[in-house]
Amino acid sequence: MEITPNYLKPIIYGEKDNASKKIFSKKLIYDNPKTELGKLEIHTNLTIIYNKLRNKILSVLISQAIKTFLVTIFMFFIINNLIIRHLASLDKQARNLDLDEDIETPVNLEKTIYGDELDGLQEAINVMHHQIIESYKEIKNNNEALEKEVERRTFLYKKAKLEAEDANKGKSAFLANMSHKLRTPLNSVILLSKLLSKNTSNNLTEDQLKQATIIHNAGNNLLELISDILDLSKIEAGKMNVQYDQLNLNETLNYIKKMFIPLTQKKGLNFEFELNGIDKAIIYQDQGKLNQIFKNLVSNAVKYTQEGTVKIELKRSNIEDYKYVFTISDTGVGINKDKFNKLFDSFYQVGILKENEMSGTGLGLNITKNLADLIQCKLSFDSERGSGSQFHIYIKDHAEDSSGLYNTHTSILSDIEENDNPLSDLEVMLIDDDERNIFSLSVVLEDSHAKVHSFQRARNALDKLEEGSVKPKIILLDLMMPEMTGKDFLAYVKEKNLSIPPVIMLTAVADTDTKDSCLSLGANGFITKPVDFSELRNEILKHLS
Ligand code: ADP
Repeated sequence: MEITPNYLKPIIYGEKDNASKKIFSKKLIYDNPKTELGKLEIHTNLTIIYNKLRNKILSVLISQAIKTFLVTIFMFFIINNLIIRHLASLDKQARNLDLDEDIETPVNLEKTIYGDELDGLQEAINVMHHQIIESYKEIKNNNEALEKEVERRTFLYKKAKLEAEDANKGKSAFLANMSHKLRTPLNSVILLSKLLSKNTSNNLTEDQLKQATIIHNAGNNLLELISDILDLSKIEAGKMNVQYDQLNLNETLNYIKKMFIPLTQKKGLNFEFELNGIDKAIIYQDQGKLNQIFKNLVSNAVKYTQEGTVKIELKRSNIEDYKYVFTISDTGVGINKDKFNKLFDSFYQVGILKENEMSGTGLGLNITKNLADLIQCKLSFDSERGSGSQFHIYIKDHAEDSSGLYNTHTSILSDIEENDNPLSDLEVMLIDDDERNIFSLSVVLEDSHAKVHSFQRARNALDKLEEGSVKPKIILLDLMMPEMTGKDFLAYVKEKNLSIPPVIMLTAVADTDTKDSCLSLGANGFITKPVDFSELRNEILKHLS
């Protein structure tokens, strides 16, 4: 503060420095006489106050920080001692709990001073542990029981599987056996009824001729059924192996043409081929199985078409992995869409033909599907009731390889007219232990004017050959015979280096091994029983020329 008349030196109260700020200034006037006594100026400077205040705050803060630090250390010590230490111990003990060890109080903490919530927690953990142990034991027991049950069931399952496999093997063996046994008498039925229906001696009435034809057709149907059942059992038993080789698509087409041209002509159907110039393509496939697939599908097309056309079309496939597609289409009765899903079931027949037209076994499509799967072909179809059907076979140009069994019943068709008589005066040695086979084959061969020397024992036939008292041009040799089998016969001839005419084996079942071993022993051809006479005649002529 400064009160300064103009002529006096200013009187200063307090300190005034450069940092002071003038905040008030007023002249002091005395009223009578009006005299200026001086000037009042007030200056302020808070620096000192600020400094004092800051020092004060700092000292307060530091003292508070020290207090807080000390309190915290103290609290930590207390909390650690009372809680954390126990919790850490609890954690450690809880982690080390072993469910397999049945301890009454697995968590055992040092007693806390106040017996507070931690003790409660420890007790709760021990109760929980006890309950967990109980549940664990129960689960363990259940697990053990379950494992035992699984073991028991696995054992039963394996046992059942083995039994089923045995039964399946038994079934297959039974079927193969039955098929063999059935084929032998069928051989006579088919051959002799065919001979009868030809009425060569012209002494049968019209009714008798009809009956002979019916017997012949029934025999063929039975043969088809037997072959189908045998095929099915082989497929089911996984025994139908495949034999791939290079083949020309044309071979299959020729096979189909030869087989079905006479049939379509007889029914008055057009039989058309649209091959788009790829019928000479070479593929790697199992010819026998492929032929059988075609045979089944084309025979259905012909069977279920009363008028119109059966057509085989060959194109390049537009499905990946498959190079070619054959479509067998017909203008026949067609199939209702609601029957589609059952069509490939075994023994399923739609049954829309008249009863007397109904033939077949209901196994054809099932076998066809299985065969197609086996040789890596894809089968699809479309059909509409009343508008015909189309079956497609998609074929790879190179199927994966494996080896297997020969097809046992595809018959090679004769391209020789039935009326030709190329067997006239041909000396045939027929060796078969079954009298019925000897009789029926002799009858049909003699009907073709061949001279038959028949033997029921291979040993006797060999004697005659060795003596030179019988000089056949061809030998028909049964495979399975008592004492000396067909194979024994061949082995003997080979060992003695005997010179004998071509040998055609007559077999009911020809698997690869048997066939190969017979061929290596010197057999020249194979005919499957029941013997199709035109096939036999073809085979004989093939080996005579
Ligand atoms: P089937 O021996 O009776 O011919 P498949 O298994 O070959 O037995 O055929 C099963 C059924 O499918 C046949 O009964 C027939 O009703 C029907 N079917 C098969 N192919 C044709 C077709 N091309 N046209 C009409 N129906 C067919």
